[in-house]
Amino acid sequence: MLVLSSPSGAGKTTISRELLKCDSALSLSISATTRPKRPAETDGDDYIFVGEDEFEKMVQAGEFLEHANVFGHFYGTPRAPVEEALAAGRDILFDIDWQGTQQIADDRALRSDLVSVFVLPPSTGELEARLRSRAQDPEEIVQNRMAKASDEMSHYDSYEYIIVNEDLELSVSRVQSIIFAERAKRVRQVGLHEFVSTLRRED
Ligand code: 5GP
Repeated sequence: MLVLSSPSGAGKTTISRELLKCDSALSLSISATTRPKRPAETDGDDYIFVGEDEFEKMVQAGEFLEHANVFGHFYGTPRAPVEEALAAGRDILFDIDWQGTQQIADDRALRSDLVSVFVLPPSTGELEARLRSRAQDPEEIVQNRMAKASDEMSHYDSYEYIIVNEDLELSVSRVQSIIFAERAKRVRQVGLHEFVSTLRRED
């Protein structure tokens, strides 16, 4: 379970897209949210857009792996697709905030599968420029997110890996290196004992 978090505008979504393009063993967890759909977004691809009542029902039914209120809207990770993907041996990428990451890290059953990466912008000026160049959100939302960015960044220290996103290509290859290294960890390699036994018998 690879979690990528960052303040809005640090480039995390672009990094995620590139990672998914290059790595067929990686799939994206699609969150449910009560926030209104942006013009460029597609329901079911970017988010599952739901009303507050439906979201609350999903919470009550235990359908979320984690959920949180971010910028006044609710976001949650549907549990079933994650469990299916993990059971099939696939890795999953999560674009969630620090609250969701914390909930996964606090869950005994999930903790050992978690790899957390925080993406920082190279500077405040760059962060603001990126937020404005999107031009999808009204000004008051941009201002609100700028104000929240500093707060979100204060949580960098609960993440294992930090990427300062100065250059997209470099950031993508850094996250890929993290994925490759984590996959090579002995504890993550299913069937290793049997494999080594086979090798030893062949000696
Ligand atoms: P946006 O509305 O700009 O797509 O996302 C706002 C923030 O919500 C981002 O920091 C994003 O990572 C976070 N987010 C998106 N989906 C989830 C989710 O399922 N759970 C949590 N905890 N945060 C989420």
